[in-house]
Amino acid sequence: DARIARIAAAIRVIPNFPKPGIMFQDITTLLLDTRAFRDTIDLFVERYKDRDISVVAGIEARGFIFGPPVALAIGAKFVPLRKPNKLPGEVISEEYSLEYGKDKMEMHVGAVQAGERALVIDDLIATGGTLCAAISLLERVGVHVVECACVIELPELKGRERLEDKPLFVLVDAA
Ligand code: IMP
Repeated sequence: DARIARIAAAIRVIPNFPKPGIMFQDITTLLLDTRAFRDTIDLFVERYKDRDISVVAGIEARGFIFGPPVALAIGAKFVPLRKPNKLPGEVISEEYSLEYGKDKMEMHVGAVQAGERALVIDDLIATGGTLCAAISLLERVGVHVVECACVIELPELKGRERLEDKPLFVLVDAA
């Protein structure tokens, strides 16, 4: 697909950000390329439009960029999964471990109902810890996670294995 090549070319890699040794995949340059950004959304919409998905859950922060246009196009609602103490209403939260220490992900109580079918969107999967926390949060309230979708996968970190049987769809593999 020529669209995939254009998307891959539009992602900028910044070495040593946010710390030495990290090759940061920067999707802000993808957003500057109107055609590549449109193609990104179109590819997700083509895949998910007939899957009976009622919820797109986007992970803070870059899941908030790709999630809403997909949600609107497939006729699903958008639910933000946020960092701790950002959501004003009552929340349920899920703790997960990072390379150093722990983090928490929160969702508003009442945003989703048991039995709904969800798509989880983020910009990138590395170790898979973030997506696993999102899946747990949704499953705890009885939501079926149909699939996770990311623009970029870092295959060396084997995040896909951590998701076990949960399907993962990505557009671009980063070396
Ligand atoms: P994981 O939990 O190890 O899979 O890390 C994925 C999370 O870290 C996602 O929310 C990403 O937005 C973020 N992340 C990790 N590395 C990068 C990167 O190179 N570019 C952009 N986001 C990244």
